[in-house]
Amino acid sequence: MTTVFKRPAVVPITELEQSAFCTTETLRTKTLEEEFRAGVRWQKVPIRYLKLSPEEIDEGIAAAREALQKQVVVLGHHYQRPDVIKYADFRGDSYKLSQMAARERDSKFIVFCGVHFMAETADILTAPDQVVILPNLAAGCSMADMAQTEDVEESWNELSSVLGGPEEVLPVTYMNSTAAIKALCGRNGGIVCTSSNATKLMDWAFERSQRILFIPDQHLGRNTGLKLGIPLEDMVVWSPFEPLGGHTPDRLRRARIILWEGHCSVHTRFSVKQIEEARTRYPDVSILVHPECTMDVVQQADHVGSTEYIAKMVREAPAGSKWAIGTEINLVNRLAEENPDKTVFCLDPIVCPCATMYRVHPAYLLWVLEGLMAGLVINRIKIEDDVAGEARIALNRMLEIAG
Ligand code: SF4
Repeated sequence: MTTVFKRPAVVPITELEQSAFCTTETLRTKTLEEEFRAGVRWQKVPIRYLKLSPEEIDEGIAAAREALQKQVVVLGHHYQRPDVIKYADFRGDSYKLSQMAARERDSKFIVFCGVHFMAETADILTAPDQVVILPNLAAGCSMADMAQTEDVEESWNELSSVLGGPEEVLPVTYMNSTAAIKALCGRNGGIVCTSSNATKLMDWAFERSQRILFIPDQHLGRNTGLKLGIPLEDMVVWSPFEPLGGHTPDRLRRARIILWEGHCSVHTRFSVKQIEEARTRYPDVSILVHPECTMDVVQQADHVGSTEYIAKMVREAPAGSKWAIGTEINLVNRLAEENPDKTVFCLDPIVCPCATMYRVHPAYLLWVLEGLMAGLVINRIKIEDDVAGEARIALNRMLEIAG
């Protein structure tokens, strides 16, 4: 076997920037100029957008929507701040929004208030004459940044040379990954999954192969594997910075799930200590967490599920019930507001939004909409045809199997 030289381990900048907006106070949208002081990378915008007040932005967006009518549809991920989600025609998690993007054929322009990989997926699933726009190109995802395409391709080649073809190992990527990684899954018999359907799709993969390479969230992969009855000793964590991920060929052959060493910087903030504190405060509280949380948190929770599942659980819960939630703060705050007859709060006492989602400030939304009014497409997300074609295979497999 040839020796593979790995690049030094690096922490993505998005991970280092994650705590930029954390506060002990209530989150409040400020002017873009003030928010630029947060110390994260922002996309540059024309100066006039920096000082706009919420009222001016509101008026501008209303005027743009009036002028553009059905030419534009605005999609909003549940983790967007309230001052952005209020403009969304449709809200959802990445799975629901990808289904919507696949069905939406009436609007030429799809403005995706979310993060980069979501807009990429929307571009892959929409018709060729539709245009997908991401209001701020700096809105990435720290988890997706932990799986650089070149590292995944190199790792896949290493793994395949040791383990063999698709009957020995299949790639399964979480939606939170680049289009090129989805394409790698498409051309190697693999699939894309989301947190709503990971169990079903991992099961599908095991019907076809002995092993799975699960990219990039080790926690979702581990929690899902355990749910399917796969013991921990049959899972290994693959470091992209070490030859063979840090394992011997024999250890890899004994594994059923090879977990990419990635995580969500937001969901790994939740801890068992926070769960114990919530239960001390309210003995009858229900703990509801996202499967991107660590295994110990998931095992201590009463309910585990995707963002859509969390929203549905709270919405359908009886009045008077109490919910301590382990997911992004903007969604938790919205659920608390929309369910005043229940007690809904975040497990983490520090208010810590997803710092990349939070970069979609309403002034960016106004900027791209005013661009369209002027006949200018700003921040188009366009995936090359060959990559899109292979990624679509993996995405369509998911949509066909999971519905
Ligand atoms: S919440 Fe986590 S996985 Fe989702 S966009 Fe933010 S960093 Fe990425």
